[in-house]
This record gives sequence, structure tokens and C-alpha cells, in this order.
Amino acid sequence: MNAILHGLDPRETATVLDGAELVDLAVRDRIYQPNERISEVFFPFDCVLSIVTRMRDGNAIEVGTVGREGCSAIPLLLGATTTANESYCQVGGTALKIGADVFQSLRANQKFGHLLDRYVQAYVNMLGQLAACNRLHNVYERCARWLLMTQDRVGTNEIGLTHEYLAMMLGTQRSGVTIAAGTLQQAGFIRYARGVITILDREGLEGASCECYEVAREQFGGLMRSTNTHF
Ligand SMILES: [Zn+2]
Repeated sequence: MNAILHGLDPRETATVLDGAELVDLAVRDRIYQPNERISEVFFPFDCVLSIVTRMRDGNAIEVGTVGREGCSAIPLLLGATTTANESYCQVGGTALKIGADVFQSLRANQKFGHLLDRYVQAYVNMLGQLAACNRLHNVYERCARWLLMTQDRVGTNEIGLTHEYLAMMLGTQRSGVTIAAGTLQQAGFIRYARGVITILDREGLEGASCECYEVAREQFGGLMRSTNTHF
């Protein structure tokens, strides 16, 4: 379940669900494009969305992530109709899709609005943490952090992705990710085979991660605790 939707009373949930659509998102499905009008909002249930900043030379790096703790509406919540970043599905799964116009009208619901406000604050803090993380922490620590954050959002021990894709998420060379993932595998924390990373030792992975995982998790703590996950 999505934490924001879970935080609503059943009657409020019914209002939100009216006009919404349950959709299956596949890896690389577009959520929004830079400077294009955002027409839909997605509330992930078990998929993960990436917010990516792309440089003029084509290099891209993940600057934010959205899973079942939140939704893809940050630009809309801040009064914009477009954004400079792009967003797409990073790990496939199910999400609730709501038209942007309907979403804006639903914000009049006090509890829904309050949950979204809290989410924006946690999200902004996460952006700051990840910006610092991308600059200050090594690829091994960031790889562990990314896997933990992603596992929290998909709710399973298995994450389907390629080294190439993970390298883009971490803004590094494929060879760097290969070494980092190999080291995590040798330590027995993960198993990587045929495009699927299986998390075997979560505690070990937490020890390998930089502090940013814990900090980001705490930011979303209030929203996460309502979802019966291990957040
Ligand atoms: Zn970090």
C-alpha cells in the first residue's frame, strides 16, 4: 500500500480512488519529461520512480527517488506545472494514477493535504542528503545505500536491474558498480545473477552503507510507519 493513501480514512480514500486508475509500470516508463506539462500523478505501491538530472553532454544521475512512501507530484505541490528534471520508472510494479487536475482538487481535503505537506518536507530533506551523498561518499557506500532504499520501496528482497542501469542511478562508471556490487556479493550481503540483485543480509548492507540511508529513512519515518513495512 502507498503510505499517503494509507494515512487517509476509508471515506477519504474512496474519494481519492474515485477517478484514479491502477496501472502497471515497467522499467523506463516515463513519469514526466523536462519542461513538459505534468498531466498525471503516480502513487507507487511497489514500484520505484527515479528523478534524474541530465547534463547537456547526456550524463545523468539520480537525484531523488519515489516509492510507496510518496508520490510523483512534488512539482505540482510546489505550484509548478513543469519541472527541469525527468522522471521514469526505475523498478517496475503497480501504482495508482490520478490526473493532475483531479489531484489538485483533492488537495482541498485537509488530511490529504497535510500528508502531502509532510511528504514534501521529507522529500526536500532527502534531496539535500542525496546531493551531499553523491559528492562525498564512495560508490561502494552509495551502492549499499541505493539497494537499501530501493528494497524498502519494493518490499521484496529481489530487485531486477542491470549494472548499466545501477551505474546511471549512482552517476558512476559501469566498472565502478561492478566492483562495488562484487565486493558486496563477496561479503555475502547480496547475490547478483541474471539481472536480479537479491539482498541476503540486510544488516550487513546497512553496515556497508554510508549514514545517508539512515538519515533518509528517518525523514520518511512518520509516513513509513503507517504502512506495515519495516520502515
Ligand atoms: Zn551517503
